[in-house]
Amino acid sequence: MSDNKTAQDDIERRGRAIRERIDAALDRSGRARGSATLVGITKGRSAPEIAAAVRAGFGVLGESRPQEFREKYSMLADLDLAIEWHFVGRLQPNKVKLVVGYCSLVHSVDDLDLARALSERSRSMDIVTPVLVQVNASGEKSKSGVAPEDAPDLIESIAGMDGLAAKGLMTMAPDAEDPEEVRPVFAATADLARTVEAKLGLPLPELSMGMTGDFEVAVEEGATLVRVGRALFE
Ligand SMILES: *Cc1c(COP(=O)(O)O)cnc(C)c1O
Repeated sequence: MSDNKTAQDDIERRGRAIRERIDAALDRSGRARGSATLVGITKGRSAPEIAAAVRAGFGVLGESRPQEFREKYSMLADLDLAIEWHFVGRLQPNKVKLVVGYCSLVHSVDDLDLARALSERSRSMDIVTPVLVQVNASGEKSKSGVAPEDAPDLIESIAGMDGLAAKGLMTMAPDAEDPEEVRPVFAATADLARTVEAKLGLPLPELSMGMTGDFEVAVEEGATLVRVGRALFE
């Protein structure tokens, strides 16, 4: 067996194991199979590794660095694979041209200037960019994201902007030895989404929560998108 074949088999096996764990978490919480999507996070991964993941059936990808995003986008575009790109990382307003028009969801909108820049760029391209508002639900200073109490206003502003469609919330939990420790962070984010939905009368169906160390707990608390890097690629 060639090394390529081995690498392909490995990623297929790891991806299938993650999907099984997602399904089990959906079953435990009485949710429908298929209601949580695995987003493979590609930061630091090579184009061949990413292509292997897509060929193994994991074609929803997320990148967290704008420049790297565009380089990978271009390299993989040549391979004629079915890829749905998301952008999940910190984004400066002056970098929006690198992502708008190239991804189907921006997970990480956390201030008004960024929202305005995304809106303006989207309008200039005559497209609508779906976005999530990133919430700092744990209050950790090192984490990006809007404070939970400021999320309703930001979502309301976005809902009023041409070129953007607010789809839900994203959060990153603090690192924890035991994922049970961060369950309250995910539960609070899910609660916040329901509160904002009721307040604004705007459906917010997507919840982007959970990474390699905590995605099962996130799914149990309502995640519809789990962002997994290490468990898929390592
Ligand atoms: C890197 C990254 C992830 C994936 O983290 P893993 O622990 O490798 O699963 C998810 N979300 C964001 C925003 C990231 O930057």
